[in-house]
Amino acid sequence: MRKKIALDGDGVLLDFDRHFQRHMEYKLGRKLPVLSKSFQVSERYGVDGFWNDLAQDEVFWSGMPLLPDAKNLIYALEDMGFEIWVVTAIGEEQRRSRAISLSGLVPNGRIVCAGWTATSQDKANILQDLGAVGFLDDQWEHVLHADMLPKMQCARYYCCGEYDMGEVPDAVGVVDDVMDFPVALEASMRKWG
Ligand SMILES: [Mg+2]
Repeated sequence: MRKKIALDGDGVLLDFDRHFQRHMEYKLGRKLPVLSKSFQVSERYGVDGFWNDLAQDEVFWSGMPLLPDAKNLIYALEDMGFEIWVVTAIGEEQRRSRAISLSGLVPNGRIVCAGWTATSQDKANILQDLGAVGFLDDQWEHVLHADMLPKMQCARYYCCGEYDMGEVPDAVGVVDDVMDFPVALEASMRKWG
């Protein structure tokens, strides 16, 4: 059986940020400049009250573009013999849309929707159920929580975005570029023997 690697969707494989900005600009009919480096799009773009509509919007979710290295990252991990899973904090109703936006790179059955209000602990529990040996997310809180799980031999890395995320705890592994993840993972696996 192939070992499993779990990847986050938004900010790791998919360009949620840019897609959100364009979507809201079109909807509001005005430019939305970046107001802050907050990870929260409401603060980042100074918009509010959009979430209920957005959560239902299949066109928005299915039309989200891949980030430039998404394919390279998945192919590199598959070449290393891993099975790729996506663990993403969206509602189950948008799983198909997420599969469409992932362009067949990850099949529908390997996309786990943790729910719109998923906490770091929820994600961590999913990782443990999967038995993932590696995990890449763009929120270090998720990575930190995964590290607190017992009985899990897992390389966990936070991928630095252009957001102000506060100081990253030492327990969280950091890669500056998603393509550094397979390299870091290989080094971790070697250590385990
Ligand atoms: Mg994310």
